[in-house]
Amino acid sequence: MKPKETLLNTQHNGNGHHNGHHNGHHHGPAYVELSDVTIDEIGENHVSTSYDTPLRADAFDVSDADKIAQIEQHFRSIMEIMGLDLTDDSLKGTPKRVAKMYVQEIFSGLNPANKPSVTLFENKYKYNQMLVEKDISFHSNCEHHFVPIFGKAHVAYISSGQVIGLSKLNRLVQYFAKRPQVQERLTMQIGKELQKALNTEDVAVVLDAKHMCVASRGVNDVTSSTITAFYGGKFKEEKTKSEFLKYLELKTEF
Ligand SMILES: [Zn+2]
Repeated sequence: MKPKETLLNTQHNGNGHHNGHHNGHHHGPAYVELSDVTIDEIGENHVSTSYDTPLRADAFDVSDADKIAQIEQHFRSIMEIMGLDLTDDSLKGTPKRVAKMYVQEIFSGLNPANKPSVTLFENKYKYNQMLVEKDISFHSNCEHHFVPIFGKAHVAYISSGQVIGLSKLNRLVQYFAKRPQVQERLTMQIGKELQKALNTEDVAVVLDAKHMCVASRGVNDVTSSTITAFYGGKFKEEKTKSEFLKYLELKTEF
């Protein structure tokens, strides 16, 4: 099922209710207005509507400094609406702190300027087996609730003649994690970027993560974790895939 069809199906499963805006006036799924029911469903079921992070074309017309200033203002309003006393010493600096954290840290992966540059090296020793980098820890945020998703990424590739610096694998995972995300999209973005960077289809990515929107609210389930996978090229073959998955079972004690 294509992502946009998922969105439409979600709407039809709503409760059969469609108001006038939903019928006949739009030019495609991107223009459909969502009812409150649909918005709740997308959030609770963590449906992603596209593979690319939905960014506007003018996303980076505004400088980081301006974004921080604007977010600070808006976050202050949110706190004030909730009735918090911002003259309190402990709360005073929070709007600015949150704004800086959003732009410079936890959502810094939205800006392509922050994408790690990848240098490839000649595979001189002709290593032509699978390389697995496992237990890469990452922190992200659910785009439906803006609360943390955190977990481990396991990535693998088979060299097509060039190799990548190991730390770049971690950095690419972290770059895509630092966006408002859904886990499925994060998995695919990492996989596709590795294929591009490494010049090979033979890439695998497995993510195992905890969602705070599932653990700390909603169903309040603290024990479940979510696993998603991306398999390209040779990793679609059973033999290669199971070799990769066996490596993930190895217990490494350091
Ligand atoms: Zn969520």
